[in-house]
Amino acid sequence: MNYLIIRKEMKMNKKVNDAINKQIGAESYSAFLYLSMSAYCESNGFKGMANWLKVQYQEELTHALKFYQFLLDRGGQVELPALAKPTTGFKSPQEVFEMAYEHEQKVTKMIHDLYELAREEKDYAFEQFLHWFIDEQVEEEANSSEIAENLKKVANDGKGLLLIDQQLAGRQFVDETNQSAE
Ligand code: MG
Repeated sequence: MNYLIIRKEMKMNKKVNDAINKQIGAESYSAFLYLSMSAYCESNGFKGMANWLKVQYQEELTHALKFYQFLLDRGGQVELPALAKPTTGFKSPQEVFEMAYEHEQKVTKMIHDLYELAREEKDYAFEQFLHWFIDEQVEEEANSSEIAENLKKVANDGKGLLLIDQQLAGRQFVDETNQSAE
């Protein structure tokens, strides 16, 4: 029996294809960073914060997969990049959430750069696809900065920390990429 091997021609603009692979890496790195933060919080008795950060880890994986699936759906070529080692050695929950906020600001910049690229390359489907991420980043920045601010307010007050920890224990993972993809 003869097997016909169909080699897909690159349907996507190479610059866009490469940028999406890079973003799959960035979202995956974000996931690992949050998992590293979650481990620190859990080890230090902040189970609610650890829960919040672990849910964040799961969310980031869905972000990576959303880019991954988009690339495949468009006939692009997935080439997963190496991931950097995530930060460890955190000093306090406040530092963790301040770093989370800083990190999300960087991710927002990446998403905006991708949007610029989509426009430059006249890739309208990619431009449209990125709207979801632009909205998502507004939420990501608001959430992490609010928690960082609250932690700053309570500083080292045990009761305050406990209260925040309890609030963050309630977060549950919902795959939001599924709901708005269709
Ligand atoms: Mg993300």
